[in-house]
Amino acid sequence: MQPSFDPSAAHFASRYLADFAALPVAVQYGFAVVFGLVIGSFLTVVVHRLPVMLERAWRSEVEAAAPDAPKAAADPYPERFNLAVPRSACPHCKHVLRAWENIPVVSYLALRGRCSACGARVSPRYPLTELATGALAALSLYAYGPGWAALAGFGLCATLLAAALIDYDTRYLPDILTLPLLWAGLIVNFGEGGFATLHDAVTGAIAGYLFLWCVYWIFKLVRGVEGMGYGDFKLLAAIGAWLGWAALAQVVLIAAVAGAAFGIVATWRKRMRFEEPLPFGPFLAAGSAITLFVGTPLYALFG
Ligand SMILES: [Zn+2]
Repeated sequence: MQPSFDPSAAHFASRYLADFAALPVAVQYGFAVVFGLVIGSFLTVVVHRLPVMLERAWRSEVEAAAPDAPKAAADPYPERFNLAVPRSACPHCKHVLRAWENIPVVSYLALRGRCSACGARVSPRYPLTELATGALAALSLYAYGPGWAALAGFGLCATLLAAALIDYDTRYLPDILTLPLLWAGLIVNFGEGGFATLHDAVTGAIAGYLFLWCVYWIFKLVRGVEGMGYGDFKLLAAIGAWLGWAALAQVVLIAAVAGAAFGIVATWRKRMRFEEPLPFGPFLAAGSAITLFVGTPLYALFG
């Protein structure tokens, strides 16, 4: 038999996916979880470093535009600072993590949540982010089976998780996450086998942006408050591009209910003041992930 030759990258990738699908199910989940943990470890770096990098870029723009203006205090990080360098280090004693201290979750447990050099506590947020990403990879595999959709769905979840954590920390949703996410959604839904038709995806991107834009202006004009930021509009536009316009009502409903519940509990426990604005991104992200995995069962309640 003549060996067939298909030079496309998609053909090769599809063959790997077919090989993956032929593995025993337990091995597939093992791969998915380990892959998720490794991506989760990278996300902790993104969440920590991206805001610093954006702040620096913004500051150098300001300094270029107004050279005589008083300079803001510099951040404590080294001059070369991006997602790859410098290597991760303890923020207390600057001890550079060795390879075995950088294994997702395992190192945290082995070191009992402390720096091996100075004994300072390591935030449990690192292993929790890694575990959450591992769980999202397994969920994507469970919901969509071995194939492109699971991989794409996991990509959406991982980006949403990073965006949610950055929004929670800084009250800012970076364009560098939301805008590529929007494009990725349109591309994923371009052909067959996406999460929505291309028509619904484009409509979703427009509707997502406009809906929150309207809510923002109504609040601003009627009550004089800014309940959310432009990052939220772009995030919901991206979610509409991924899940289609029809999913947006459920995403916003889950986000609003979860956000209100969180706000009430946080105020009640005196963690925050009532007037303090909540970051909306984490709740939009949660609503999207739920919708990605379970569809839109809420609509059945309303007929
Ligand atoms: Zn240390």
